[in-house]
Amino acid sequence: MVKHSSRIYLSQSALTNNINFIRKKIGPKPIISSVVKANAYGHGIRTFVTMAEKAGVRHFSVASAWEAEEVLHSRQQDSNIMIMGILYEEDIPWAIENEIEFYVFNLDRLPITMECARKIGKKAIIHLEVETGANRTGLQKNEFPEALNYLKKYNAWLEFRGLCTHFGGAESLSNRFKLDAQHKSFNEFYSICKKKKILPLHRHMACSAAIFSEPSSIYDMVRIGVLQYGFWPSPDIYYMHLQETGKANDKPLKRIVTWKTDIMDIRHVKTGEFIGYGTAFQATQDMKVAVLPLGYSNGYPRALSNQGHVLIGGKKSPIVGLINMNLFMVDISHLDEVKVGDEVVLIGRQNKGVINVSSFTNFTQLVNNEMLSRLPAAIPRKIVR
Ligand SMILES: *Cc1c(COP(=O)(O)O)cnc(C)c1O
Repeated sequence: MVKHSSRIYLSQSALTNNINFIRKKIGPKPIISSVVKANAYGHGIRTFVTMAEKAGVRHFSVASAWEAEEVLHSRQQDSNIMIMGILYEEDIPWAIENEIEFYVFNLDRLPITMECARKIGKKAIIHLEVETGANRTGLQKNEFPEALNYLKKYNAWLEFRGLCTHFGGAESLSNRFKLDAQHKSFNEFYSICKKKKILPLHRHMACSAAIFSEPSSIYDMVRIGVLQYGFWPSPDIYYMHLQETGKANDKPLKRIVTWKTDIMDIRHVKTGEFIGYGTAFQATQDMKVAVLPLGYSNGYPRALSNQGHVLIGGKKSPIVGLINMNLFMVDISHLDEVKVGDEVVLIGRQNKGVINVSSFTNFTQLVNNEMLSRLPAAIPRKIVR
């Protein structure tokens, strides 16, 4: 097989470390559901599922049936799979057949699901998602009793596996009032269940940030995305962790991903010449420049044009000019012994140098997630120690 223009390495020991940290934080009982939507936040869903199972994970959450199928085909254990988002009606029988759990967030879904289950002769495993203040998906309070009655009536075909909701903004301290209101609302839904004696097997609400910002929302299961990949959801959450542990600094999380390529060509550029497209970069002295075989179509953010660095020989080399579709250039004038084919680190460590994802994105979850989840699925992933 021919080589791809870059490659991604995933560290098993880093993931195991992160899962252990999460386990310690939430205690021994709650199920950790590993959120692997968006190609496992860009890490590569198939490779990542294998690694997570090695780290002891037995429950996976995805955003779509398509992603659920990826997990189904890559799991090697009897892991549970849960669809939190889109499941088209025509795929409901497939989900039931394969014992895939799924969210139900409107009343219409219940009779449709029940009919499918009855036809197949197998129970559907459902999680009722309730609306607590994020106004994305979820059953409203006035529809909820009817949903419960339906579950009770048809409990031969519908298993009430979970009652759940999602925080809208658990990573920011300024959302405190909203989190508390959502949590209170969730408890009211649960009270209705208790009053009617129609109880879910599991309650789940907390995401990565919430296990710090709203720890009382850790029920029978937590849905953990960003944290397991070794990133803090936000500076707020990191400071909460420091406060809790009384440390001045701490590095309990390890980045799993390393991204590498190689030098494709080296050239000398004279003072006054421009590099790449347009006039974005003009050499103010004679320079030595390395050409790298990837660009924005390969997931390298175009916003890093004339910004940012890569590592060559353990030293930082600044990007010069625009990030092209399939190429970009870096200044290597300061490096003596470089040659075509030398390893280039885009994210990760090389000798004493390191490039963090946060250096791309300034340390906020949303941009970390965006950058990572855009890493093309076609880049080969390899598990390393
Ligand atoms: C993405 C997602 C999560 C995980 O969020 P993180 O902040 O990455 O832990 C949990 N629950 C739902 C419904 C999600 O969509």
